[in-house]
Amino acid sequence: RMSLVGFIGLGNMGGHMARNLMKNGRSLIVFDLNKAVTEQFKADGAIVAKHPADVAAAAKEIMTVLPSSPHVRNVYTGDNGILKTIQPDTLCMDSSTIDQTVSIEMARLLREKKSLYIDAPISGGVGGAQAATLTFMVGSGSDQVFERAKVILSAMGKNIVNLGAVGNGQAAKICNNMLLGIHMIAVAETMNLGIKMGLDKKALAGILNTSSGRCWSSDTYNPVPGVIEGIPPSKGYSGGFGTTLMAKDLSLAQNAATNVQAPTPLGSLSHQIYRLLAQDPQFQAKDFGVVYQFLKDNTK
Ligand code: NAD
Repeated sequence: RMSLVGFIGLGNMGGHMARNLMKNGRSLIVFDLNKAVTEQFKADGAIVAKHPADVAAAAKEIMTVLPSSPHVRNVYTGDNGILKTIQPDTLCMDSSTIDQTVSIEMARLLREKKSLYIDAPISGGVGGAQAATLTFMVGSGSDQVFERAKVILSAMGKNIVNLGAVGNGQAAKICNNMLLGIHMIAVAETMNLGIKMGLDKKALAGILNTSSGRCWSSDTYNPVPGVIEGIPPSKGYSGGFGTTLMAKDLSLAQNAATNVQAPTPLGSLSHQIYRLLAQDPQFQAKDFGVVYQFLKDNTK
């Protein structure tokens, strides 16, 4: 019988990822603060732990998929955290997008317990989590650790990339999401300008997508409702990637830019724009494409 896998953080991403591990024949011991979610996992055959320490006492392979740095710190180092009960040679795989320095610190704390921690942040969105087609950006520290992680991660994703030292996964993820935040705003303001100049939204998108302005935010996730069917901007900006998570990722990019003294003027401006959205009750619970509605003059 295969050993238990621990899974902590069963939200929009983690919930689908944990289910894909179960589909792959793995037995899970899970924990989340949200009781409604853990009840569902219990009904589906998973063991539900009382806190992260219970997970670490039972499993030597543990996934964490949590919102941000403080949650990860708490799950590992808190009163009933993983570190309290962790067994030697446990492999913790953290797919949260968090501060690189926190990943490096967690790896150090786990090494002191003769265990392993890798950062393995993800891209591919909720759809990719559901379809098990995620990309994992892995900072493993060694090929041997990477191969061990890959056995688990390949049940949840199709593109598992070894980037070297612990923390490098976060570096890659943070860079990608800074660019994503910038080009989403860029497409939103461009579409708004063109529509106000009298262009048809689909005709304008068509030109952008066959010209040099083309990017993911224009051709795959256009923020103007009705340009692309079936994505959050065409479904009232529901589901998808929230403005608060985008604001968080852009803040991570700003922390990193400060640490290494890299100028990121557009990353900084994008961070401030998403901060405004994340504190506005009209936009904070919406998909990040809603920046188009924020820029648009809704009074006309
Ligand atoms: P989410 O908010 O939907 O899920 C987080 C889960 O963690 C929730 O179920 C919450 O109850 C649980 N949680 C919070 N604190 C906890 C604690 N102390 N102990 C146990 N459980 C706790 O977030 P998500 O969309 O699943 O994102 C998770 C991570 O993945 C984030 O870092 C995010 O930036 C990243 N990410 C998200 C997407 C996306 O499209 N949603 C894509 C790529 C990466």
